[in-house]
Amino acid sequence: MTFSIHGLAVARGIAIGRAVLVASSRVDVAHYFIGAEEVESEIQRVRSARNAVAEEIHRLQQTIVAMGPKEAPHELSALLDVHLMLLQDEDLISGVKHWITERLYNAEWALTTQLEVLGRQFDEMEDEYLRGRKADLEQVADRVLRQLKGVPSPVAPPVGGRRKTQQDLLLDDATDVPLVLVAHDLSPADMLQFKQSVFAGFVTDVGGRNSHTAIVARSMDIPAVVGARSASQLVRQDDWVIIDGDAGVMIVDPSPIILAEYGFKQRQGELERGRLARLRHTPALTLDGQKIELLANIELPEDASAALLAGSVGVGLFRSEFLFMGRRGQLPGEEEQYLAYRKAVEGMQGLPVTIRTIDVGADKPLDDSRRDAAHLNPALGLRAIRWSLAEPQMFLTQLRAILRAAAHGKVRLLVPMLAHASEIRQTLSLIDFARAELDNRGVASGRVEVGAMIEIPAAALILPTFLKYFDFLSIGTNDLIQYTLAIDRADESVAHLYDPLHPAVLRLVADTIAAGTAAGKHVSVCGEMAGDVAFTRLLLGLGLRSFSMHPAQVLAVKQEVLRADTTRLAAWARQVVEAEDPSAVFTA
Ligand code: PEP
Ligand code: MG
Repeated sequence: MTFSIHGLAVARGIAIGRAVLVASSRVDVAHYFIGAEEVESEIQRVRSARNAVAEEIHRLQQTIVAMGPKEAPHELSALLDVHLMLLQDEDLISGVKHWITERLYNAEWALTTQLEVLGRQFDEMEDEYLRGRKADLEQVADRVLRQLKGVPSPVAPPVGGRRKTQQDLLLDDATDVPLVLVAHDLSPADMLQFKQSVFAGFVTDVGGRNSHTAIVARSMDIPAVVGARSASQLVRQDDWVIIDGDAGVMIVDPSPIILAEYGFKQRQGELERGRLARLRHTPALTLDGQKIELLANIELPEDASAALLAGSVGVGLFRSEFLFMGRRGQLPGEEEQYLAYRKAVEGMQGLPVTIRTIDVGADKPLDDSRRDAAHLNPALGLRAIRWSLAEPQMFLTQLRAILRAAAHGKVRLLVPMLAHASEIRQTLSLIDFARAELDNRGVASGRVEVGAMIEIPAAALILPTFLKYFDFLSIGTNDLIQYTLAIDRADESVAHLYDPLHPAVLRLVADTIAAGTAAGKHVSVCGEMAGDVAFTRLLLGLGLRSFSMHPAQVLAVKQEVLRADTTRLAAWARQVVEAEDPSAVFTA
């Protein structure tokens, strides 16, 4: 039966495919397709892993027997019997085989998929004892997964996404059906893992439109919906689903008529992309001849190629924190960071790269995929520059790496979340110190312009201080909105209050652009507002001449720029900012 689930629209477009449910704790399991000729060897991998686990359990049982009942209670042995039984469970074995043979999933993916299917059956059991066996099944599966790690697949995970059109659905090959990932929650680092993956779309139960998870999903340029509440419970493994990333809706088990309608919409979207692609080499000039700088936001050095391909003229925001995440405390050293920054700089082929110093905390934890539960208000806690200043050795390491990369191209250094003059002075002296350290070591470094993010209202209210110390400003509207309106950008329950057109937000943005421009300093916007075509004309009217956004947005924003006349927009933009209800004037 067809039904729809509503969430928040994150990334444009339509995806039609089968649902793949992934538990948040298992996102680091490899997901890739094997070739038809590898089916047998992949099944053999699972068999070998299972045999190894069975032996492991037998050995454990022998140890238990040797220990005697005092040290090793009888229950332990009985539990291992249950584990052995689950290991031989026919539903588990045949299910895993099914996913490998019919869908060409790699062994780990097949195992976790079947685990999810069986897990639901356990959840629905009346008997409490049997329901409790789900945990045992998971433990057994974890043992098999660990064994599989030691038995490498004969097939390497393919690089590159598998975005498929509706026409591909007509193909017989099972792996040509697009797959849509449905999960309760994904951290930004989890999402990044899926960047080069097989999925054609994403849905998560939690998250706001401008959470970092959503931002990474958007950068992947595939349809995504977040904040879909209980989607991961309502959808079953392998259900047919449609994701409408424009409307923020997921349709489950669509009827043929609905499928045809969305197939049409999908083709329209692709035609539009094709049309936009022709603008790649067109200079971004407004009708009245204003030159507009369109820059890219990137998360990894490899994203530089997408930035170039989109026709951006540089990187306006390299979110360096993604190099630090999911490493279980092993932060990258100076050399590793230097190579990563250098790769981005060289990848941009002489165009400027703005590297933002690490911004972890709040909804971007370094490790755990869940929020930083230790602090009640992580967004107001030790985040971004506050963390860097609290960890000066870590910060100096990063600064040295950035300064060294600057010897290979044009680098701008951007500092997040500053609010206090004392923080500014401390940051600048650490930059000087890092350079002196390199000089003392006789290591080459390059000149950098140093800029500040304006993303805390307090910063936007003391602009003269910022303009005194910095070469450029970059407005982080995502946080500026969050902190001005006191709403958590990652919390879907207050997503309706996240309003870029709130007069207070607009005033802070307008004042920053005006003050920066009057002081002759470069000002850009690198928050999601810059890549949203709904706001291009307004920002142009407010005098903004530099926009930084996901590569996927660059051409659509360029189209808006080409159609705009800034001489006409200025008066209207002023009216919008000064209105009691800007959205009324905005849409009039
Ligand atoms: C912002 O806050 O607008 C921004 C660009 O930084 P981030 O989204 O990484 O917090
Ligand atoms: Mg920010």
